[in-house]
Amino acid sequence: MRLSWRRSSRAEDRFESWITEQHQRRVLAGETTPSGPCPDEGFLQDIGRKSKNIALSDPRIDHTANCRKCMSRLLELREQNRTRRQRLAFTAAITACALIAASVVVAWYVTQRMAPSANTAVVAQTVNLWDAGTVRGEQPGQLESVSLPAALVTVTIILPRHSAPGQYLVAVTRDQNGNGLVAEATATTVAKGEQQEITIGLDLRKAAAGPYFLSTTHEQDQAAYYYPLQIK
Ligand SMILES: [Zn+2]
Repeated sequence: MRLSWRRSSRAEDRFESWITEQHQRRVLAGETTPSGPCPDEGFLQDIGRKSKNIALSDPRIDHTANCRKCMSRLLELREQNRTRRQRLAFTAAITACALIAASVVVAWYVTQRMAPSANTAVVAQTVNLWDAGTVRGEQPGQLESVSLPAALVTVTIILPRHSAPGQYLVAVTRDQNGNGLVAEATATTVAKGEQQEITIGLDLRKAAAGPYFLSTTHEQDQAAYYYPLQIK
């Protein structure tokens, strides 16, 4: 059992601790003779807490320092106090960590919520390619340009006349060779009368305003059709 509750690095402190330990060892071995009766538990608790109300001249101090029973109890109380302080410090540290974590989460949440609402709002757009009879090799510059906002857009594309039903890959790219991909999505056609429509979500928030190309590729055809697109 370690009797000294003090841990010191300096030699003189080590020497004092050693004397204290030697004394405690003798007391606990019953080699000392206490004077007077044992004090009550409250007094021992006061010493255990290092209360400032206790005068060192109090004869009960001298008794406690030499009584086996009182010394054992005092060491127990000291240990309990130390454990309680450690637990309090631990709880305080955990609470601090939890508070920091909570504030980080709240800050993140607020940042997300405070982000320009227009940026996260989904804009619905319809792109009508019904009369855009583009065929492979045709110059897309001849077609009327499609315009989309630099936002989260839900685009409903009315496919050109005679388009086959099925699944399409829709992409927004920098050029008409499929380079500089900005966004892409796949969707299956829905028939509206004689028209085939596809609806896809495109995230164009990071796209700088300027000219792009919107392409559609049928799952079986694999040939991409490019239409000039302006992102504003
Ligand atoms: Zn005693």
